[in-house]
Amino acid sequence: MSQSFSSFIPPSRVLMGPGPSDVYPQVLEALARPTIGHLDPKFVDLMDEVKQLLQFVFQTNNTLTMPISAPGSAGMESVFVNLVEPGDKVIVCQNGVFGGRMQENVLRCGGQAIMVQDKWGEPTDLNKVRETLQANLDVKALAFVHAETSTGVLNDAKALCQLAKEFDCLTIVDAVTSLGGSELKVDEWQIDAIYSGTQKCLSCVPGLSPVSFSDRAIEVIKQRKHRVQSWFLDMDLIMGYWGRGGKEGKSSKRAYHHTAPVNSIYALHESLLILHKEGLQNTHARHDRNHLSLKSGLEKLGLEFVVQKNYRLPQLNMVRIPDGVNDAEVRDRLLNEFNLEIGAGLGELAGKVWRIGLMGCSSSRKNVDYCVSSLEAVLD
Ligand SMILES: *Cc1c(COP(=O)(O)O)cnc(C)c1O
Repeated sequence: MSQSFSSFIPPSRVLMGPGPSDVYPQVLEALARPTIGHLDPKFVDLMDEVKQLLQFVFQTNNTLTMPISAPGSAGMESVFVNLVEPGDKVIVCQNGVFGGRMQENVLRCGGQAIMVQDKWGEPTDLNKVRETLQANLDVKALAFVHAETSTGVLNDAKALCQLAKEFDCLTIVDAVTSLGGSELKVDEWQIDAIYSGTQKCLSCVPGLSPVSFSDRAIEVIKQRKHRVQSWFLDMDLIMGYWGRGGKEGKSSKRAYHHTAPVNSIYALHESLLILHKEGLQNTHARHDRNHLSLKSGLEKLGLEFVVQKNYRLPQLNMVRIPDGVNDAEVRDRLLNEFNLEIGAGLGELAGKVWRIGLMGCSSSRKNVDYCVSSLEAVLD
C-alpha cells in the first residue's frame, strides 16, 4: 500500500503559554525571503547588525554578543561549557525548573553545584545567597534564572549581581523569558554571561539563543586549563565565524564553523527591529499594562494568582486551578474549540496551576480579552 503525504498546514492558534509566543507576521515574512550564502558579504553585514541590535536589547557594549544557532537550552549550555571547568564551584539558585537545569549543566562540566533552594513561586532569598557566598569564598560563579517561566517569578537580578560582585565572582544569568519583557541591564548590573531565547518575548521563531559574554568572562575563557568539551559550543571557535568585534572587528575574516540558520537570522533581525522601534521602556510598559488587564479579567472569573505582586512576572501569569476543575479538559477545550494555547503546571505544580503567557507579540489587549472570554465560556 502506498501512503500519500501532503504539506503541513498548521492550525492558526493563539499562543498564550510559556512559549513559543505568537510570531509577528513581519517576522514570518522575513523568514520566507530567499536564502543566501552564510558567508555572503550581505549576510555578514546582517550578522553585524544582529549583533548591534542584540547589544541594544541586552543593554551592553559586550563585543561577544550574538545568537547561538540552537534554542535557549543551547545558549544555557554554551555559557556553562565555556565558563565551568572540572572542579569549579558554582552557586546555583533554584526556585523552579530552570535552576535545576543549570545545576545539571554544572555537574556535566565536572563542576560542583552549590544549591540555594527556594520554594517554587517564591523568589531567591538574597540572605541565603549571601550566607552561601560567605561560606564558599572560592566559588567561580553565581548562576540564577532572571524570569522563572515555570512559576512566573522575577528574581532580583540587579541585587543578585551586586552580591556576586561583592564576593568577586562571575554572574551567569538565564534571561530566556526576561529579555524583551522585563527590565534587563547587562552592563549596569555587571552580568558576565547571559543567554536568552527567540520564541518568548522576542516573538520570533524558536531555534536561536542570543548570548552575551563580558570581557571578564572572555578572560576567564582564555585562561581555561582544559579544552571546552563541546566543539559546537566552543565560543572561541564561534567567534571566528561571528567576528571578534572590537579592534579586530569588522575587518576580521570570517571562518566557516557551521552554517548559520540563515533564514532564522533574517527573522531574528526583523523581531529585533520591531523591539528597537517600539523601545524597551514602551515594550515593558505594554507588558505591564496587559498583565494588569489580564489579572483583573481572571480575578473576575474567580481565579487567583499564586505569586505575590512585588515579584510577579507580567509576561507569565500563574493562576491556581479552582477546586473541582479538570486541568487537562479545560486546556484541551481551549485548544480545540478556541484555538487557544495556555500552559500547564510543571513539576510539583502540575495539575494545580495554569501558566498564561503574555509574551512579546502575544501581549496585546486583543489576546487578553480573548483569553478571558474563552476561559469564561469553558469554565461556565
Ligand atoms: C524556555 C526556557 C528555557 C529553554 O529554552 P528552549 O528554547 O526551550 O531550549 C530556559 N530557561 C527558561 C527560563 C525558559 O523559560
